[in-house]
Amino acid sequence: MSQKKDDKDLVKEMAVLLKSGAAMLNYLCPNCNVPLFKLKTGEVICPKCKRRFVIVSGEEEEFKVKGNLVIKEVERAAIEQLHRFSRQLSSATAPHDAIEVSNVLLSLLEIVRLARKIRAEDLEAAKGKG
Ligand SMILES: [Zn+2]
Repeated sequence: MSQKKDDKDLVKEMAVLLKSGAAMLNYLCPNCNVPLFKLKTGEVICPKCKRRFVIVSGEEEEFKVKGNLVIKEVERAAIEQLHRFSRQLSSATAPHDAIEVSNVLLSLLEIVRLARKIRAEDLEAAKGKG
């Protein structure tokens, strides 16, 4: 009896989600086995238990997600170092000191540039997938 009521509520909830522009996905909620919905905001939720999910399709994508986190971390570290060495550059008195610090800064800038480029490309690829 109450199970039937739950089902009815669930169907109603799904209808509301679809009306709001959410899309039903091919993935099932691991807790309640009902289809997950992708909201317009990009969030993926289960209409029954209301949990949020991050869809990771296959090992390759999981690897990519992890890779992105590492790249972000590298970018952050490089920026911290840039901050540190930029102060050294402004306080350098001898030309060879300035050149040495500049070389470090150039390497760090290249790291930041590449990290941002890789992340932007990944974003584009994700967008292209729809
Ligand atoms: Zn659920």
